[in-house]
Amino acid sequence: MSRAAVILIAEDEAAIATLIKYNLEQAGYKVIHALDGETALRLARQEKPDVVLLDWMLPVMSGLEVCRQLRAYAETERLPIMMLTARADEADRVKGLHTGADDYLAKPFSPGELLARIHALLRRAGVSAVSSTLLSCADLSMDTVKHTVTRGGRTVHLGPTEYKMLQQLLQQPGKVLSRDDLLENVWGKNINVEERTIDVHIRRLRKALNEGGEPDLIRTVRSAGYALSVPSLDDLENEAV
Ligand code: CA
Repeated sequence: MSRAAVILIAEDEAAIATLIKYNLEQAGYKVIHALDGETALRLARQEKPDVVLLDWMLPVMSGLEVCRQLRAYAETERLPIMMLTARADEADRVKGLHTGADDYLAKPFSPGELLARIHALLRRAGVSAVSSTLLSCADLSMDTVKHTVTRGGRTVHLGPTEYKMLQQLLQQPGKVLSRDDLLENVWGKNINVEERTIDVHIRRLRKALNEGGEPDLIRTVRSAGYALSVPSLDDLENEAV
């Protein structure tokens, strides 16, 4: 049975920490929070989180120093670390990455971008992002018990057919599902549904998912079907403002 991935936030600014915590919990992650560098280091070693979000400027011990020390201990040597900082200039960014951070996000950032990057870090580390009742891809999450869908923290309202389609797509992000696959899994084997009906539902699903102006996550693969596109870290780098 998989458990929800645990994320440690080391951030001394309460408003930012609260916002991040809210968005991460909405997406199905378990969150622990440290207000200073020393506590962050202790919690990282004790609680063994799956990812650390490390603010650069922290009281007691800087984020950079926490990062350096985490890399020095065997048990946290490979722990995915994302540095958060208001310092956007390249020299700092390079310094952060050289110290062993896996990724780097400049403030202010959108919750969607944060979630997508965490998801990518977890995927690279081979951790399943969320517990078994939660399916997710980038900033999109589905709770199959509560029957809810959120994108970047916003609730997405879907009809039953669109919901089932999305569930199919989320179960195998990146895999192309043919119209036949969708037909069989969404409507059932012996139902007669025209191909263009599937396209109509995909259009509705896209509209609901992208309502907040987010990038389209559903990829149309000509003459093959549809897939959820999984953003890579490189894509995110290019999209970052
Ligand atoms: Ca700070």
